[in-house]
Amino acid sequence: MSIIIKNLNKIYPNGNHALKDINLEIPSGMFGLLGPNGAGKSTLMRILVALMEPTSGDIEIYGYNLLKQRKEVRQILGYLPQDFRFFAKYKVNEFLDYAARLSGMNNSRQRREAINNMLEQVGLYEVRERYASKLSGGMKRRLGIAQALIHNPKVIIVDEPTTGLDPEERIRFRNLLSSVSANDTTIILSTHIVGDISSSCSNMALMNHGQVSFVGSPEEMLKRAEGKVWRLRVTNEQYQEINKKHPVISTIPAGIDWEIQVVADSMSQYGNAEPYTPTLEHAYVYFMENQLDLWMND
Ligand code: ADP
Repeated sequence: MSIIIKNLNKIYPNGNHALKDINLEIPSGMFGLLGPNGAGKSTLMRILVALMEPTSGDIEIYGYNLLKQRKEVRQILGYLPQDFRFFAKYKVNEFLDYAARLSGMNNSRQRREAINNMLEQVGLYEVRERYASKLSGGMKRRLGIAQALIHNPKVIIVDEPTTGLDPEERIRFRNLLSSVSANDTTIILSTHIVGDISSSCSNMALMNHGQVSFVGSPEEMLKRAEGKVWRLRVTNEQYQEINKKHPVISTIPAGIDWEIQVVADSMSQYGNAEPYTPTLEHAYVYFMENQLDLWMND
C-alpha cells in the first residue's frame, strides 16, 4: 500500500468533528475520494499534504511517517488545491521555474529541461511566455497540475479537479492524470462529481459526515447497489408519496402518469416495479441514504 491512514481524527477548534476515526489504505494508481460538500474531503487532503495536523491518528506515505517526517514527505508529494492561485506577475515558464525551485530542484539545466517537458506534456509550451493571469480557465488548471508534477512526485493530490472546466478540458485533464498514474505513482482525486471517478479511478472511497462508508472499486460499489434501483410507472399521487420516502432519481412524464426511477430496498408494494441496472450515480445515492445501516452491518 502506498498510503496507510490509521484512526485519523480532526476536530477543528470550534468543535467541528470533521474526520471521525478514518482508516484507509490507498494503493498506487488513481484513487477517487467521493463525497458531498462538507464530507471532510478537503480536511483529509490538507492533512495528507502536511498543511494541517490531525487531532489524532497516524499516516504513512511510501514508508514515511507523515507526522514525523514532513520534509521527506513534502519532497515526494505534489498538490493541486481547489483554489489554486499564482502570482499575477509571473509568466507561465517563470512560475514553473519558481515551483521547481521550491520543490528542491537546484540544478538549473535539469530544471529547464523538466520545465520544457512538462510544458509539452500539459500543452502549454506555445503559451510559455504568456502571463499566467492571462490564461483561460482550463489552461490555468493545467498550469496547476504542471506545478504539482514538476518534481516527479510519487503522490499527487488533486482537490476537486474539474470544477469550472468545460467537458473537453475535463476529459483532457483526466487523461493527463491517467497517463501520469501509469508510472507507479498514487493520485488521489477528491471530488463530489461521480463522473470524475467512474471514468478514471480503479479504486475509490466514499465519504460522508467525516466517515468512510465504502472502500473498493467502482465496480464493487455498483454491485452493492444491485437490486436497489427500480423503474416503475406511477400516478401523480403515488409519485408524491414515494418521493417523501425514497430518493427519486429520474422522472419522465408518461401521459397523465410518471415513469420514475427510485433507489429503495424494495418497491414490491407497487406491482409494476422492475429492477433497474444501477449506474455509479445510483449507487452513490444508495450509499448516501444507507450509510448508517451499512456501518452497522460491515
Ligand atoms: P469537503 O471538502 O468534503 O467539502 P471539508 O473538509 O471542507 O469538506 O469540511 C468538513 C467539515 O469541516 C464541514 O462540516 C466544514 O464546515 C468543517 N470545516 C472545514 N474547515 C473548517 C474550519 N477551518 N473550522 C471549522 N470547521 C471547518
